[in-house]
Amino acid sequence: MRRSNSGCSALLIVAVVIVGFVVLLRFNAPQTMPTVIAPPNPATSTPEENAISRLLREGFGEDSTPLPTVAIPEVMPTIPPLSIEQDMTPIVVGAGDVQDSSVAVALVVTPTPPPPTATPSDDEELSATQVDATRDPNSWQPPALIPPISKNPLGYDHYWFVRPLDANANNWVLEVYPYGTDGPSQENPLRQHHGIDMSNRIGERVRAAAAGVVIWSADGRQDEVDYFQNSPSYGNVILIEHYNQYRGQKLFTLYGHLSAAFVQVGDIVEQGQVIGLVGNTGQVTGPHLHFEVRLGENRYGSTVNPVLWMVPYVGHGVIAGRVLDASGNYPSSLQDIPVTIRRVQDGRTEATTTSYIYLNSGSDINDDPNWEENFVVADVPTGLYDVIAIINGQRVVERLEVLEGMTNWVVLQPEERPTEVPTESP
Ligand SMILES: [Zn+2]
Repeated sequence: MRRSNSGCSALLIVAVVIVGFVVLLRFNAPQTMPTVIAPPNPATSTPEENAISRLLREGFGEDSTPLPTVAIPEVMPTIPPLSIEQDMTPIVVGAGDVQDSSVAVALVVTPTPPPPTATPSDDEELSATQVDATRDPNSWQPPALIPPISKNPLGYDHYWFVRPLDANANNWVLEVYPYGTDGPSQENPLRQHHGIDMSNRIGERVRAAAAGVVIWSADGRQDEVDYFQNSPSYGNVILIEHYNQYRGQKLFTLYGHLSAAFVQVGDIVEQGQVIGLVGNTGQVTGPHLHFEVRLGENRYGSTVNPVLWMVPYVGHGVIAGRVLDASGNYPSSLQDIPVTIRRVQDGRTEATTTSYIYLNSGSDINDDPNWEENFVVADVPTGLYDVIAIINGQRVVERLEVLEGMTNWVVLQPEERPTEVPTESP
């Protein structure tokens, strides 16, 4: 009898549960199966058509600086010309010259005299001013890795952002004008670079590096909040504040010189969403995307090196490091000095860069909070390299293996020279 009773009870419980479940389903049915379709968001649906017509209606960028830029004041120097055309004939650009960019592809910069401390045998390999300006943008480029990546065992890396251009656009970072530097010419330095440049045709799609909210989408000259230091050089510019913060600090990305913007302030964007088109508005000598990362505050003086935030290519890593004197300091005399990356396998120079410049201006560039680097080289193929610099007359070489998808760290510091040479009696 006990078995029979407990069996009945169990059946009853099951029946009650089933009835309850059916009732629940009925009550919830209208919510789980909506019949009303939300109206399309004009900012995100068919973005090309709606946004462009809106932009034209609003006269977006109408009064931007036309190209080629002429009579640029000395305090606002221009970047080297690098447009993308089929004509591959290299042109020679004198130091500081700005040529017609219509045929400029491979840029050869006239070498400047070697620093007085350099020995003649070192001049050739260490002259960062004599370089191929960049890789051929029309050449094949590998796909990018998928963010976020942080392979460094100490968690120093933060490759959180997708590349802001399509894979078949030019994603190589312009080598002669990296972050924190003033360009290839010693005589006619450019404005210190707070971002990186990627030369591209007008109209290439620009994509949000990560999800976030658009907080600026207009000509930079309308700045009333000191995002751009009232500089006309940005042209049409988009700023995104990202949902992800970094160690409690806000994170922003900036996209400059655009020909069109498909988003407006307040729009929510997804990672990889098309937000605008490459252009040549503002102070430029050729169409390109100027890309910045800002950490903490959305200010001109809050930038960090975007190369340490944007995923490298498959099969590539990033070299970052410190140039230091024998005492471990980074005085102004060591700033803006050439660093050469040479492949061990065949002695070929893979890349050159120059170390950061600090102007102590309050709107300075910044090193990474983890790495505290003073130079960075983007997208180096994996392999073994010698990293070379002449520091206070001493040639310093450090061998380094570059691994994929991470920051490969190197310190270039000469050995302390003995102040007294011990004399030996014969
Ligand atoms: Zn730039």
